[in-house]
Amino acid sequence: MFVVMKPGTGVEEIEKMHKKLGQLKMNLTLIPVEQQSALTLGGDTSKLNLEALQANIQLEKNVRIQQPYKLASRGFHPEDTIVDVCGCKFGGGHIAVIAGPCSVESEEQMVYTAVLVKQYGATLLRGGAYKPRSSPYSFQGLGEEGLKILVKAREKTGLPIVTEAMCIEDFDVVEECADLIQIGARNMQNFPLLKRAGQSAKPILLKRGLSATLEEFLMSAEYILAGGNSNVILCERGIRTFDTYTRNTLDLSLIPAVKELSHLPIIVDPSHACGKWSLVEPLAKAAIAVGADGLIIEVHHNPEQALCDGAQSLKPERFGHLMSSVQKIMAAV
Ligand code: PEP
Ligand code: MN
Repeated sequence: MFVVMKPGTGVEEIEKMHKKLGQLKMNLTLIPVEQQSALTLGGDTSKLNLEALQANIQLEKNVRIQQPYKLASRGFHPEDTIVDVCGCKFGGGHIAVIAGPCSVESEEQMVYTAVLVKQYGATLLRGGAYKPRSSPYSFQGLGEEGLKILVKAREKTGLPIVTEAMCIEDFDVVEECADLIQIGARNMQNFPLLKRAGQSAKPILLKRGLSATLEEFLMSAEYILAGGNSNVILCERGIRTFDTYTRNTLDLSLIPAVKELSHLPIIVDPSHACGKWSLVEPLAKAAIAVGADGLIIEVHHNPEQALCDGAQSLKPERFGHLMSSVQKIMAAV
């Protein structure tokens, strides 16, 4: 890290800074530059409280070379991490496809959809039992009953199940039956929930917050990794922009950027990104083309009657169409 002092900072002030940083066991080198002095700091600067330093000392700017996240960084772990969910691998060249309805509505719906998405090539099954809804009057999910239905769908098809834990109170029951635990966009910075996920032996699917920067996203993954859970899959699901034609804007640039900065696998959710079923397939193809390690797609047998997110849900046959065109992109990349 470089620390640049304000112009005209006296020798005494620079020595004070030198002493303070020396106490923090940093390796320091002073670079006198005419009116302005700079210091280089070596060692682990990730725990350095820059705000506190800035409050006390005449600092003009600082340039961090080390990322604030450590365990999530590519530097810490140069190889791609491969997350294995019951034999379905994400990362390191392995691509997995999660499909299923937004919400678990009934056993018939879930089993019917599970059988079809498996037939069309999905490798994991999704379905929300606890739903984060913008309105308290909207369907909130079947809760524990929904989890039991998911287990039945897994028994029927053998597909591992992916479902969301919305809060610490629900985490234990979700953890018991899910094969991959989702932390949704709205909870990306729910730090107690991230800490709980860090203690879990189950892999975690962490979705990007609606307005989270790449650094904030990786810092949230860092919480889970720092808690001891190394099986984290990231998910880009669209962010808020000025445009309202689509539900969100799919940030495709995040995929190769994450690949540069982190070793963690990253998948794409084109359904929540665009909110319109007709745009899901082209975005899914683009996601695979830019290097995503997988997809999560909403599928409903009767979107008009869906209790949640019907407008963005593909009918099973359309999901079949998506799979065959995405498989061509997979083969090409
Ligand atoms: C979901 O996948 O069911 C969901 C609610 O997604 P997000 O958290 O990305 O909005
Ligand atoms: Mn949904």
